[in-house]
Amino acid sequence: MLKVAIVGRPNVGKSSLFNRLAGKRLALVDDRPGVTRDRREGQGRIADMDLALIDTAGFEDIRDESLESRMRAQTERAVSDADVILFMIDARQGVTGLDEEFAALLRRADKPVVLLANKAESKASEAGVMEAYGLGLGQPVPFSAEHGEGMSDLYEALREAHLRLKAEETGEESDIKDSLKLSIIGRPNAGKSTLINAMLGEERVITGPEAGITRDSIAIDWSWRDKPVRLTDTAGMRRKARVEEKLEKLSVAETLRAIQFAEVCVLVMDAREAFEKQDLQIADLVAREGRAIVYALAKWDLIEEPQKRFEELKDKANRLLPQTRGAPLVRLSALAGRGHDQLMEAAFGVYEDWNTRVKTGELNRWLREAMERNPPPVVDGKRVKPRYITQVKARPPTFVLVCSRAAKLPETYQRFLLNGIREAFGLPAVPMRIYVRQNSKNPFADEKD
Ligand code: GDP
Ligand code: GDP
Repeated sequence: MLKVAIVGRPNVGKSSLFNRLAGKRLALVDDRPGVTRDRREGQGRIADMDLALIDTAGFEDIRDESLESRMRAQTERAVSDADVILFMIDARQGVTGLDEEFAALLRRADKPVVLLANKAESKASEAGVMEAYGLGLGQPVPFSAEHGEGMSDLYEALREAHLRLKAEETGEESDIKDSLKLSIIGRPNAGKSTLINAMLGEERVITGPEAGITRDSIAIDWSWRDKPVRLTDTAGMRRKARVEEKLEKLSVAETLRAIQFAEVCVLVMDAREAFEKQDLQIADLVAREGRAIVYALAKWDLIEEPQKRFEELKDKANRLLPQTRGAPLVRLSALAGRGHDQLMEAAFGVYEDWNTRVKTGELNRWLREAMERNPPPVVDGKRVKPRYITQVKARPPTFVLVCSRAAKLPETYQRFLLNGIREAFGLPAVPMRIYVRQNSKNPFADEKD
């Protein structure tokens, strides 16, 4: 099990993260009042990954000068016990002197560190996130322990650390593209179960005409054209007792979990009422979590003017969901057994895009051209000048733009650049990210330290 230490100065949100990861298992934690605890341990979980958590919170009660030395000793111990360190700062407050001390300690530790810029749910935290990069621990993850934002990025970071550790232990490179993690999501009654049945080619899950006879999700290991797929079925797990409850509402929490666990999400919609409010909400969750998406239009056999309707829906998708412009739209007809191969082809296609790495040279040639065509804005009489751009990670593709007067670069220009990258490098459907960073003296300084 991956051992994870949560460190940072008091009040940044460590316990909130601990609780979120530990969930119900929190009951196991010794939290008796009056007991001076300087460390909590517990089991946690993120998506399909089990974690052994070490939380170093609990120094708030100590008011004397021993605080710092005790905190330091405690943190050092947690760090040496852990495989991965989650270092948290409060992005709303920005980087403090104490944060810098922690960072110095962690840079020396030579362990993988995930830098979480917490309380990032508000706009006021953007500057803090940008500042956190200066700690020399790589790109900070904008995070909100309270709202659960950034969990997918945390999951990806932990997963990578886990793979690296395993590779060190066994001396073998583990295959990242092990199996495609696919989640089938959508409103009740959209046609998810019917689709899954058809794909699996056997009646492994029951379909029914009632809305939401299902609850919880199940995972099914499966393969398509000899490629392994792990399917998460949010409509699965039909227990007789629960059928009576007739859930008619979409469970957002359940959907969110399925999204966070997935690499590609298939959003199934009834073609007669696709891209309505709830569909847009789900699609937005997928984009915010940075997952790739395929839109599935179920019950296509019931559509009367198919060509017209298809154009209509394509238009709607691009207009209402610009963040995943160009995502594949697949028509399904379960009754005629049609569309499933296209769906899987589309899923593997967007998966590739989601894993894409664009070469820095190509990216910067493109950036120069893009700036010539559409020069960056002038703010307060001076031009905001992007210097260079690099892709810092894949899954989803994430870019850092280094810029003079970075804080002044308008969001519209960032969007223009992202859309440009999307087009130039053929990456539709993938929710990409761009972070803007202030120009430093040495533009080719290493990512870490
Ligand atoms: P710790 O001392 O680092 O363990 O911090 P806590 O988890 O006890 O959190 C300190 C305070 O920050 C509490 O009042 C939390 O409710 C609050 N907090 C934690 N995470 C977030 C967040 O993501 N956003 C906001 N706005 N507040 C948060
Ligand atoms: P879920 O709640 O999303 O799992 O939806 P189901 O798969 O249970 O489907 C809901 C209803 O729509 C059922 O009555 C299905 O028979 C029907 N249905 C699903 N797919 C199709 C389709 O492609 N064509 C038609 N005509 N009906 C479908």
